[in-house]
Amino acid sequence: MTRTIEELIPDYLRGLPVYVPGKPIEEVERELKIRAVKLASNENPLGPSPKGIAAAQAVLGEANRYPDGGTHALRQTLAERRGVSPEEILIGLGSSEIIDLAARVVLRAGVQGLTSEGTYAPFSVAIRASGAELVLVPQRDFAFDLQAIAKAITPKIAAIYLANPNNPTGSAFGGEEFGEFLAAVPDGVLVVLDEAYIHYAMSMGLRDSVEAYRKRKNLLILRTFSKVYGLAGLRIGYAIGRPELVAAMNKLRTPFNTSGVAQAAALAALDDKEHVSRCIETNAVERKRLTEGLAKLGYRPVASEANFVFITVGPEAPALSEELLRLGVIVRPLGWMGFPEAMRISVGTTEENEKCLAAMAQAVLRRAANGELARR
Ligand code: PLP
Repeated sequence: MTRTIEELIPDYLRGLPVYVPGKPIEEVERELKIRAVKLASNENPLGPSPKGIAAAQAVLGEANRYPDGGTHALRQTLAERRGVSPEEILIGLGSSEIIDLAARVVLRAGVQGLTSEGTYAPFSVAIRASGAELVLVPQRDFAFDLQAIAKAITPKIAAIYLANPNNPTGSAFGGEEFGEFLAAVPDGVLVVLDEAYIHYAMSMGLRDSVEAYRKRKNLLILRTFSKVYGLAGLRIGYAIGRPELVAAMNKLRTPFNTSGVAQAAALAALDDKEHVSRCIETNAVERKRLTEGLAKLGYRPVASEANFVFITVGPEAPALSEELLRLGVIVRPLGWMGFPEAMRISVGTTEENEKCLAAMAQAVLRRAANGELARR
């Protein structure tokens, strides 16, 4: 047989883009010999939930044992809190794993998965990696165009991926708009609603997406412990969905996907109301500071409902990001997410945001002096 291993890799996998993670702060500091702030990965700048840390530390001594593969305690608690049954809860290695599992369950060659342009890149990757065809609907004003998405549904569409609020634009849709959209989606189309940043969008009246789920069971709601709970490094998230779907995803996931440490931390973090409130309040204040500061510099940030701010800076976005990096501020240029002229700045602490705004001001001034004023 003359077949090579390379030939075993299907064409649709060869063509997939590589996920570009934010630059690790240690690497930047080592390379450039500077102190840096990382505002590139939408992490929680106030750290992990203290109750979560304590719970994680308390179980470290049991690391010789396999974790509870069925994550019973966490599923039970989440089920009680969200008003569903434990069979409707799936625990994943962050919501990232669940984005992928959902595609593996409902998509395959011959069907289509739909998402928007300008949204979280792993949605498209999951759709294409399943062998299905990717359908992209353009955005309207940096937001999901739910009406256009509803119109784009054909019998071939098996899944639709939405993020609310959206990453990287920070825009969000409200409960009413979403309800109208869901009403237009046929029963046999799965809507994956990724709510990674929902805690930061309290004004949007979207806390009741479980209500929508009760009415229309073709919804899979994704939540993560990576953002407001501050546990991104522990890799844990969950989904709410119909038991048949959850059971199918459970068959595909690895038996011990989440560690006992992550499960314990997540369970405790859920009850850390003080930390959650502090993180939400700080984010609201600091997001305003960052948004207003950027506006003063002449940019027009998209109104954000998340823990980051999106700005269009012009064709020099990669160069500006590089310049900010040298000034000790790591932000995310968004060419790889379909916005070659934009960047995303995660909301940090007051100090971090001030440092970012000062660096931006410095970069803007230098450009003005050099006569290379940005098109904004
Ligand atoms: N969904 C969205 C929209 C995100 O922006 C992110 C991470 O930034 C994730 C999911 C991944 O979260 P997790 O850490 O739970 O895998």
